Amino acid sequence: MEKTIAIIRGDGIGPEIMAQALAVLDVVANKFGHTFRYEEAPMGGNAIDAFGVPLPESSLKTCLASDSALLSAIGGPKWDTIDPAIRPEKGLLALRAGMGLYANLRPSKLIPQLKEASPLRADIVERGIDFMVVRELIGGAYFGEHKTYQRNGEEAASDVMAYSQHEIERIVRVGFDTAMKRSKRLCSVDKANVLDSSKLWRKIVNRIAEEYPEVEVRHMYVDNCSMQIVRDPSQFDVIVTENLFGDILSDEASQITGSIGMIPSSALGEGTRGLYEPIHGSAPDIAGQDLANPIGMILAAAMMLRYSLGMPAEADAIETAVNKTLESGLRTGDIMEPGKTKVGCAAMGQAIAAAV
Ligand code: NAD
Repeated sequence: MEKTIAIIRGDGIGPEIMAQALAVLDVVANKFGHTFRYEEAPMGGNAIDAFGVPLPESSLKTCLASDSALLSAIGGPKWDTIDPAIRPEKGLLALRAGMGLYANLRPSKLIPQLKEASPLRADIVERGIDFMVVRELIGGAYFGEHKTYQRNGEEAASDVMAYSQHEIERIVRVGFDTAMKRSKRLCSVDKANVLDSSKLWRKIVNRIAEEYPEVEVRHMYVDNCSMQIVRDPSQFDVIVTENLFGDILSDEASQITGSIGMIPSSALGEGTRGLYEPIHGSAPDIAGQDLANPIGMILAAAMMLRYSLGMPAEADAIETAVNKTLESGLRTGDIMEPGKTKVGCAAMGQAIAAAV
């Protein structure tokens, strides 16, 4: 097959980890007889430096013309003090909106070789951690009206969390469809005891549940869910929730599996094109030192092959290569344990490519 992949190299450790993911994809292309064409799509701080905006129109066009897009991470202290209207994150929000990506799928899965890295007690980890957070990505408080104003003689601020019926319906369906592909258990997370947007959310979940009689549905308040994720994560299979709750819960869900450097994530809309990235940021504290863990980025490439490019065997090959490489004892600094061999970003990437 021939596929065009938009490449967003990003800032900080971005270019280093992207280089390793592309090296692994090149080996996959060779082994399975595919051609991957990489099209550069600058976005983030580097785009602000080069073009004066975090998402040049040409980059959005490149992503829309591709079969899928691969992103490392963007941002850094250099751009923290610039005009908020053109900050690096604005580029990412505009890209997600421009590509119509409303569903964020983030797996929380413990890699057995890294059990020790989980901050949870061993008896909790033993029960297993393997669930998916499905988060709404382009609605709610992050996209509602933001306002800072004067109230009763002092400064006040508000952010509007608004959802229309169709925005809830489409993400809830992604939740049910994801549950159908897994063990058919869906937990819908809201705050329906307080928020109107959550009451509407719950009503729609209950209506759509009738279309999926095989899926066992339960509702959970977001505060309880954040507690249950650390108390007994094995109870979850698929969690579906709105943007702000999902942002917080998915970070918690990833941390309990060990390192932030290991986890991929995907953003999907209608059709198969998606945006795939590791969940971590641009890690400016270790950028340019060959210290970054490239595994989250490499697993994001695998996820792209599976969900957007229709290449499940190729995705399996990468995931197996990652497990084999960890089995062989190689570790980057963030997941280092006594008795293992510490390597840099490039050496970890090369070992995974060789294992493919
Ligand atoms: P971060 O994820 O970049 O870093 C948090 C900590 O984890 C740091 O100590 C870092 O060194 C470590 N870390 C992260 N990824 C790692 C990896 N692959 N290997 C080894 N260690 C790793 O979060 P932050 O420090 O809060 O943010 C840094 C910058 O990244 C900020 O400008 C922020 O806005 C941006 N950011 C971008 C994204 C994105 O592009 N989607 C997401 C989150 C943060």
